Amino acid sequence: MAHDPVVDPVVTDAEHLEPHFVHVGQEAIARERLESMARDGKRPNVLVILFDDVGWGDFGCYGGGAAVGAPTPNIDRLARRGLLLTSCYSEPSCTPSRASLMTGRLPMRHGLLRPPMYGEAGGLDGEVTIAELLCGAGYVTQAVGKWHMGENVASQPQNVGFDDFYGFLSVSDMYTEWRDPYFFPEIAYSQERTKWIENQPFNKCFVHATRGGDVETVEEVTIPVLSKLDDKWADYSIEFMRRHAGGDQPWFLYHCTRGAHFDNYPLEKFLGSSPAKHPYKDTIIELDDIVGRLVATLEETGELDSTMIFLSSDNGPESSSWPDSGFTPFRSAKGSTWEGGQRVPGIVVWPGMIEADRVSDGLFSQMDLFSTMLRLAGASDSTPSDRFIDGVDQTSFLLAPDGLSNRKHIYYWLGSTLSALRVGEWKFMIASTSDDDRDVHNPSGFSGVTQKYTYARLYNLYLDPKESKSYMIRKLPYIETFQRAMGAHAMSFAKYPPKRVVGGVG
Ligand code: CA
Repeated sequence: MAHDPVVDPVVTDAEHLEPHFVHVGQEAIARERLESMARDGKRPNVLVILFDDVGWGDFGCYGGGAAVGAPTPNIDRLARRGLLLTSCYSEPSCTPSRASLMTGRLPMRHGLLRPPMYGEAGGLDGEVTIAELLCGAGYVTQAVGKWHMGENVASQPQNVGFDDFYGFLSVSDMYTEWRDPYFFPEIAYSQERTKWIENQPFNKCFVHATRGGDVETVEEVTIPVLSKLDDKWADYSIEFMRRHAGGDQPWFLYHCTRGAHFDNYPLEKFLGSSPAKHPYKDTIIELDDIVGRLVATLEETGELDSTMIFLSSDNGPESSSWPDSGFTPFRSAKGSTWEGGQRVPGIVVWPGMIEADRVSDGLFSQMDLFSTMLRLAGASDSTPSDRFIDGVDQTSFLLAPDGLSNRKHIYYWLGSTLSALRVGEWKFMIASTSDDDRDVHNPSGFSGVTQKYTYARLYNLYLDPKESKSYMIRKLPYIETFQRAMGAHAMSFAKYPPKRVVGGVG
């Protein structure tokens, strides 16, 4: 019998772990590959490249690229060397996503339900991060670029598991938007307001820190400085990879770009370099070039075959900032639980271990990286047992040539509201944001109201990827099963109560 994600049962390993499929054949292949690697005394490096607000459709390998005025040859080439995921999921916005990747937990568990703004309190402290666990397992851990998981000292990267951090702590637009007279003439042309914002308690600089130490200012992020950040950060990561090549310890490099969050000021040499001649698209060209440089470094140092690369975006495009905005073929955008908000590109490459030229629509959450990285590091035993972990170990999905996803459900959370569930091609939705406001400039995921449906909606994402027509009433046999799955998920919060650190009040 063929595997069917709607029909097949899941296995629960422990009450604090998300249930998962067990595919016996592919699990045996994965185990054999990992054991053979262990016999050689090896564990893989992990390079996570996380873009900001880049759309599912921006890259050529996802149907965008040249077709949307910004070819991405390096990313397309990389995708052909491994597995291209068509159903990779983030959370609806920056901080919730990043913290979920870092902890393997949904925002309702780590408590960062929306991004903290302009020096606002609240962050990762109190959580157990993948960086901390990999460090405990003997990895060198490095974070580069955007952090945005709390500016408070206890939440800073060097205090939650990273040996070194080189980047900025907060939300991208905050550093420059008020300096640009095009967007903020009322501040940029006013000494009083400029002074007022300069005195607000948020860090306007990009910084460097080493484990347990204080952050040291590298430079204040003015517009000319911001345009060079991604280039400098790429240099820093390249230097890190060169320094640790051939070393005794494997490494985890978490490289988060500034691009392509609004507002984009690409490096001078990329200005006008895209056929679209637009700053967002020029930034995509720059990011593609950076991916090429990072991969070339792994080839030069001979580390490519010892490194698993995961490339993704932290959420869907921010369409309220259009045209400084990415492309998605799905409904709505960042901030929403429509597919446009949470379905993101996902490319996983590990030559020799992950088959080339694979494309899969198997469900994959960025939280799964947490459990998968622990397994690859031989450190699954250090998975926390005092809290719920939503990540699923996807090692066998990745390592078996025709591997299937081990994840049955994607749960969509709109802040503190459970919004939807996906299983197979179906998306069962009980709440969403409206996306048809007439009084908002470019309405999308961050506008609208939370609407709870009286009778739920059911979308077939294969026939209707834009979620335009619910046809629940013709598909009633599924409903009880999906309701039960939603209920079981909600019940996991009875034993493990939700945490609210930023957002989600009421
Ligand atoms: Ca983002």
